[in-house]
Amino acid sequence: MQISSRVQALSPSQTLAMSQKSAELKAQGVDVINLSVGEPDFNTPEHIKVAAKQAVDDNYSFYSPVPGYMSLRKTIAEKLSRENGLSFAPSQIVVGNGAKHAICNVILATINSGDEVIIPTPAWVSYVEMVKLAEGTNVLVPTDIEHDFKLSPAQLEAAITERTRAIIMCSPSNPTGSVYTKEELQALVDVLAKYPDILVIADEIYEHILYSDSKFVSLASFPEIADRTVVINGVSKAYAMTGWRIGYCAAPEAIAKAVIKLQGQFTSGASSIAQKAAEAAYLGPQECVEEMRQAFERRRNLVVRLAREIPGFVVNEPQGAFYLFPEVSALFGKKAADRVINNSSDLAMYLLEVANVATVDGAAFCAPEYIRFSYATSDENIVEAMARIKRAVEALS
Ligand code: PMP
Ligand code: GLU
Repeated sequence: MQISSRVQALSPSQTLAMSQKSAELKAQGVDVINLSVGEPDFNTPEHIKVAAKQAVDDNYSFYSPVPGYMSLRKTIAEKLSRENGLSFAPSQIVVGNGAKHAICNVILATINSGDEVIIPTPAWVSYVEMVKLAEGTNVLVPTDIEHDFKLSPAQLEAAITERTRAIIMCSPSNPTGSVYTKEELQALVDVLAKYPDILVIADEIYEHILYSDSKFVSLASFPEIADRTVVINGVSKAYAMTGWRIGYCAAPEAIAKAVIKLQGQFTSGASSIAQKAAEAAYLGPQECVEEMRQAFERRRNLVVRLAREIPGFVVNEPQGAFYLFPEVSALFGKKAADRVINNSSDLAMYLLEVANVATVDGAAFCAPEYIRFSYATSDENIVEAMARIKRAVEALS
């Protein structure tokens, strides 16, 4: 049976694969703690569920317009103006099946074969694969824990060539939790300002999950690049709505039009019911967002403290999202019984099979010296998981 070379070249999503593996082990009766997939462990807030039920009763059962209901696109434009100081017209907003779909739409709508796309790494698993799907060329620019996983202006400048077509930025970051300050973003914008043909794709899905004194600044708020910045966001993380599958891009008009054309031939409009729920999320009370953020901050403090007690782990203090990304290369070459930990994939497997904790290998994020923990789980799970990991790591010699 032929499988296209396009799909053969894709790697499966490691975040989803690890989560699936953990679910399978659980179904076999193994007591696995899942720190692999990144999704809020909270239920969707009540008022959002009520709006969805109302949408069913109101017969929102027909195809929705390809770019999303105008009421939702207006609501999103208002959100971007109110919360982020951005001025997008509703016609520039295209709602899709999650932020993942929105990013893929934008990449497919703008990248030609051989176009270079700059991706600072560690980077979320899907960017590189989406660029591959578009036959673009990934230009990975590594950052490290010592520099708080931040791309420097000099690194950016050095990565730009005449074939550079886009850069994908993610702050707060998955998988590192790093958050760029306004000054840091300005320094990058100063470089980008010199290259007017580079499209900026700003994945802002974790904007509300911020700790300590960090402030969220949208890349689209810098006038130098505002007219060529695509904002990606959605309801998955802020409103605990991962399964509802609603995300969007806010893009220059020409890109929004191209995305609508693509979506019209590919997926049609996103789920009608989920769109009405998303509208309620943006228009309803926002206390739920802050309550979840506070829980994540408490867990961030807990996981950082416990991870720092694990020998061989280099741990920073993430300022946002819900991931910890320790550097673990000091453990490479160590052994337990007949098992050798040669890399972070071996470590993730060892932690799964011996400690029964599911994590994600740093290589999935183009950073093989690291490992990712999602701490979007209960405090009890975090305490137990970190104790198990500590015991397993201490057994290595
Ligand atoms: N971007 C980043 C950085 C993410 O972590 C996720 C989570 N899957 C997404 C985009 C996609 O989110 P969703 O498709 O659920 O909106
Ligand atoms: N963003 C989440 C993660 O990184 C969800 C899984 C995915 O879509 O990759 O774990």
